[in-house]
Amino acid sequence: MAHYGEVLEVQQLTPRMVRVVLGGPGLVDFAPTPFSDQYVNALFVPEGAPYEIPFDVDHARSLEPEHRPVGRRYTIRWWDEKTRTLALDFVVHGDIGFAGRWANHAQPGDLLQFVGPSGAYAPSPDVETHLMVGDESALPAVAASLERLTERQQAYVVVIVDDATNHVELSSPGTLNVTWVHRCDGAADDRDQLLRAVEGLELPEGSIGVFVHGEANEVRSVRRHLLGDRGIPKEGTSISPYWRRDYTDEQWRKVKREWVAATEADV
Ligand SMILES: Cc1cc2nc3c(=O)[nH]c(=O)nc-3n(C[C@H](O)[C@H](O)[C@H](O)COP(=O)(O)OP(=O)(O)OC[C@H]3O[C@@H](n4cnc5c(N)ncnc54)[C@H](O)[C@@H]3O)c2cc1C
Repeated sequence: MAHYGEVLEVQQLTPRMVRVVLGGPGLVDFAPTPFSDQYVNALFVPEGAPYEIPFDVDHARSLEPEHRPVGRRYTIRWWDEKTRTLALDFVVHGDIGFAGRWANHAQPGDLLQFVGPSGAYAPSPDVETHLMVGDESALPAVAASLERLTERQQAYVVVIVDDATNHVELSSPGTLNVTWVHRCDGAADDRDQLLRAVEGLELPEGSIGVFVHGEANEVRSVRRHLLGDRGIPKEGTSISPYWRRDYTDEQWRKVKREWVAATEADV
């Protein structure tokens, strides 16, 4: 289902994260999913394309390749039923990428069309402990998931960001143990910082729910550790790569299936 939102507000949450609040008539039929990782496929209109938002998605996708809308997936940080508004938190990673660049320049009045929402995960109410791991791109899903915990539950959260100016506020009715990992404290080519932080965690005994999302290599090594070294059962885990360093989303989607198969063969 296609919808479009008008940018009502743009908030610079951290140096690398921009929140865009969407509302308006294009969200009149929007219906959320029950999942805390629910996301939309935002459709960016390439320069020179012969259509404007709102557009007919099937028609736009039938045009010559350079004019087709470019899809990028973004988690819904929150949906407010009363005001019929929603928030997307975009990582801005330089003035590059259809999505990152759009968010970097977003202004009230801009329009964003999207397909969705879809989703697959919500923290189980049946386990005492949840482990949530990722980078900035996973923060919206982690933050939304933490808000769903009960007072009887606890969460261990490990998130990698550049530095302390990129922390966001996380809150939960449950007990929170948050570890921030700072890339800037490590060597530029050190890709194992997130893994080492997870390896160093002392987790309580008992059943555990696991959510790991973010950069493909980091997700893969953390997965191998959790399912392999720690022997956490695969069932009840939600682990998948959102993006891959040095690959645009188009390049990444071309090889993602193979990558996921190789990752599943790890453990
Ligand atoms: C289900 C799902 C939910 C997601 N939710 C969010 C979300 O809520 N917020 C969010 O910011 N992202 C989210 N992502 C990730 C986002 O879709 C990708 O990061 C996407 O590639 C960004 O598109 P782009 O057009 O900005 O850059 P692209 O054109 O895809 O890439 C351009 C360059 O930027 C690099 N790059 C891409 N993403 C990042 C990044 N996060 N950090 C550093 N470099 C990067 C690429 O490797 C490439 O070199 C989600 C992905 C999925 C699959």
